[in-house]
Amino acid sequence: MSKTNWKKGGVCLLSLAFLLTACKGGSDKPTTADTAAKTPGGSVTVAGTDTEPQEEFTDAAPTSAQISDYKDDPQVEELARQVEEKHGIDIVYGEDVRRNFGNEEEDLRATAFTSAEGIKTAIRSVDEAFSAFPKGLTSQLADEKRGTLKVYLLGAVGQGDNAPESGAYPAFTDNEDPELFLAIDISPDGFINVPTVSHEFTHVIDFRMHEMGKFDDEGWNKLNPEGFSYVENYETYATGEFANKYSYTEYHYTPRKLTQPPEDVYFVYNYGTVSALEDRATLLEPLIIYRMWGHDTIAPGMYEFPHIQAKTEYFLKAIEAAFDLAPEDVEIWKNAYEKLANKTEP
Ligand SMILES: [Zn+2]
Repeated sequence: MSKTNWKKGGVCLLSLAFLLTACKGGSDKPTTADTAAKTPGGSVTVAGTDTEPQEEFTDAAPTSAQISDYKDDPQVEELARQVEEKHGIDIVYGEDVRRNFGNEEEDLRATAFTSAEGIKTAIRSVDEAFSAFPKGLTSQLADEKRGTLKVYLLGAVGQGDNAPESGAYPAFTDNEDPELFLAIDISPDGFINVPTVSHEFTHVIDFRMHEMGKFDDEGWNKLNPEGFSYVENYETYATGEFANKYSYTEYHYTPRKLTQPPEDVYFVYNYGTVSALEDRATLLEPLIIYRMWGHDTIAPGMYEFPHIQAKTEYFLKAIEAAFDLAPEDVEIWKNAYEKLANKTEP
């Protein structure tokens, strides 16, 4: 089914004081067709394009339409266990989820989500998002202090005294938190903005590489245009000095005719000028979408720009060097990139 009408919801918030990242907004869900494509249907095919073997989880349709609470449906736990094992993560759902995140300045409060079907839908999407990355990467993000990556499947989330609102914080992580986690709002029906989760997951990888001392920021900054520095401001990036100057598109994947020479394209869209973290996460988005869904329509030709290539390759090589990944898994990832970069025959 075509997913060409897919749009990513909202913008990320990143409080530089404590690196809580959250992708806010999200009223523009995928089209009905996209949502229908993700509706549970008896079994789930694990995402994988290219040469990756596909895998199926046993997950029969509910025996009774009455099943609604996750506690009454043993399939929820079984599916969670399978996906946890596959990716080396902990999936926390239902009443067991954490309710408070952030700090005094920016505290987020989450509610519980308890629908069995919704939780199962969400778990399949988590699997889809993580499967787009090289195998074994998720489990290697764990460290002695913060442990295994926890994936919280939450109900609606609100900030401070504001009432929780579905989709207000689709996904977020916090590098300063004692826990290594990725929190996802799966209300009201288990639907997840999968690319947003992948975007946040890219931040988690990035944080971890920095903690390990395995990312050379100086080298990275040299890949940007002369005189450029990140705006470091989530409010002004779209109207500031660098807006539209070096970006492929203005906002997400809104098609646009370049107003600059191809040699002056350094960012996917203006949001990438906010910070190096957002730059790298947005640079990987088209590759991840391609890995998940097999199409490159969200930013066609993007990886053919020389500076986009240099930056993407720098980041991909850094990931490859920082983690212990099987060569065949890196190969799948690399082949996908090279195809999009038009470096191999189609
Ligand atoms: Zn972000």
